Amino acid sequence: MLKDLVTGATGLVGSAIERNAPIERDLVCVNHQDVDFTDYNATLKMMEKIRPERIFHCAAAVAGLGGNMKHPGELFRKNILINFNVLEAARVTGVKRVLSYLSTCIYPDQIEFPIQDSALHKGPPHPSNYAYAYAKRMIDVQSRAYREEYGCDFITAVGTNLFGPQDNFNLVNGHAFASLVHKTYLAKKNGTELKVWGSGKPLREFVFSDDIAKLSFWAMDNYHDAEPILFSNEQETSIRDLVQLIANKMDFKGSISFDDSKPDGQFRKPSSASKVKKLNPHFQFTPLEKAVEKTVGWFMETYPKVRM
Ligand code: GDP
Repeated sequence: MLKDLVTGATGLVGSAIERNAPIERDLVCVNHQDVDFTDYNATLKMMEKIRPERIFHCAAAVAGLGGNMKHPGELFRKNILINFNVLEAARVTGVKRVLSYLSTCIYPDQIEFPIQDSALHKGPPHPSNYAYAYAKRMIDVQSRAYREEYGCDFITAVGTNLFGPQDNFNLVNGHAFASLVHKTYLAKKNGTELKVWGSGKPLREFVFSDDIAKLSFWAMDNYHDAEPILFSNEQETSIRDLVQLIANKMDFKGSISFDDSKPDGQFRKPSSASKVKKLNPHFQFTPLEKAVEKTVGWFMETYPKVRM
């Protein structure tokens, strides 16, 4: 049976890949407890043992706005090492396909909207996450260079603001969606006010992790280009509207305040879905409300055993 490997299998995207995997493939899931991807020899040894045909490379050191501003050095170091080691070990063991994940948050800050798949290196990233962004951009460089010199059919996909089960629900270091789910849960439980960072006005394109997983299997089978492909639904939602949606799904009726002393980050970063729409025209994204309901439901069933 053909073998696929998922790195970072317990994370947001990795766990979605596992949930959505077609039965005709053997899926091997590893995460940082099984192998330290910042160690090249350990990564190579794992690859030689598993011998995958394809890799969904989801492992990464990730943080939201708060964590990015607090730990730029750690995020740079870990991501450079993880990505270099996984792609290099894949190359030397003859892995046919690697799909690595990028994000619109690593695209240039001063960029013409909507963000195009091809614009990754056309300017510096936002100062709040420059270290993470430059480290992640090197996946594109390494994949292209390996394609050019060694013929590796390695591809990259770009997510927008992803969310879903198994996200990091940490109150400080998590991304907005997951942190807000956790904060709303606590505000309801403790009968306190829900305090949202920033003005609530920034816009984000929230995409459900199960949709990313389905698009990933499609891309593995069908996409062979050096250019990244954006998995976007082109649907912007304000932080304020998102909070309202989460509050409704959690039946939170307390007061909500917006803390202007906390940063807003980028105001918006709309992206273009033109490529994915053209190549995969029948794909339907899960409506936001349904995806919020599923994620909130998973959180409530799983709490307190969520990552946080
Ligand atoms: P970004 O899309 O890369 O900026 O990352 P985030 O997912 O962390 O989203 C940040 C946006 O959500 C900013 O506008 C924040 O002000 C807003 N936000 C509101 N509450 C929170 C929260 O509890 N955590 C985070 N990370 N962001 C929040």
